[in-house]
Amino acid sequence: MLVVPEKAIAGLLTEAAVFAAIENVFAAMARGEARNFAVIREGLDHADAIYGFKSGFDRAGLVLGLKSGGYWPGNMAKGLTNHQSTVFLFDPDTGRATAAVGGNLLTALRTAAASAVSIQHLARPDARVLGMVGAGHQSAFQLRAAARVRTFDRIVGWNLHPEMLPRLAETAAGLGLPFEAVTLPELGAQADVIITITSSFAPLVMADFVRPGTHLACMGTDTKGKQEVDAALLKRARVFTDEVGQSVTIGEAQHAVAQGLIDAADITPIGAVIAGLAKGRLAPEDITLFDGTGVGLQDLAVAAAAVEAAKARGLAQEVEI
Ligand code: NAD
Repeated sequence: MLVVPEKAIAGLLTEAAVFAAIENVFAAMARGEARNFAVIREGLDHADAIYGFKSGFDRAGLVLGLKSGGYWPGNMAKGLTNHQSTVFLFDPDTGRATAAVGGNLLTALRTAAASAVSIQHLARPDARVLGMVGAGHQSAFQLRAAARVRTFDRIVGWNLHPEMLPRLAETAAGLGLPFEAVTLPELGAQADVIITITSSFAPLVMADFVRPGTHLACMGTDTKGKQEVDAALLKRARVFTDEVGQSVTIGEAQHAVAQGLIDAADITPIGAVIAGLAKGRLAPEDITLFDGTGVGLQDLAVAAAAVEAAKARGLAQEVEI
């Protein structure tokens, strides 16, 4: 099998390559050619850690595997990233392991690409102002990936912890874009596209903050109980997701569904829009909302692309198992 270590991932894939991998696998899911398996997520009662697997099979791309990892809150003190993950790929014809790939950077890249795919397919083409809610580790990746798919002329941002806002300002500056810190109502009043990427457990973006025509990519809510936007906003919006099953249980839609405001049938997989099987935005004044919950097939798609790129550059190490 091949090993692609975490330290080899940076610079291996262009943002365009990650975007294409995610777009393709979402479309394959909608065509019934790729499916995610049930997610395992368990507290270890050790090191306060949460550990799990996300796995799936893309029959079209012949990519089979799993991402294993989780969250170790004590890692920072050890000089390590709290989120840790590794992707394992298997030969779908024989079951033999073909690759082990460092999954930390890939997770940030695939999450940002999912949000960018939603912006590409659902945001108004004339979107000019990007609103960032959240300034943690993922936010810089999100901002950069969004800026690839629309011509933004400025960025506005809000974060619960204002001391983290320089991350957004520096990322915007790196893209040559002005940045301004604003309140949440100001953000809603100015932004054409809003990305939420926080660990919030209560709504931050209220339904009446958001203007007609806005696209929201809600990326932070990936667990039961988390919430970033007002459930009433999902009633007002046309709602899309990576996977409906996750959206209604662990995604942003869990709250609107629990409150009876929408149900699963109101949520469209983004892959269906990409594959031309469903309509995306219908009118300039539509509010579109993408509930990005994060599926295993995203991890497998980018890991497979990373393996190919690493092979081409001689960066994959061959080991016998
Ligand atoms: P991080 O720890 O680096 O940053 C956390 C962010 O959330 C910061 O902006 C912080 O200020 C904010 N925050 C924390 N508590 C908050 C609260 N109570 N209310 C409002 N904001 C709060 O985390 P990160 O790596 O940037 O990840 C952000 C979120 O994205 C996490 O919830 C993570 O689980 C989620 N995530 C989702 C996917 C996906 O595929 N959808 C993938 C990776 C991460």
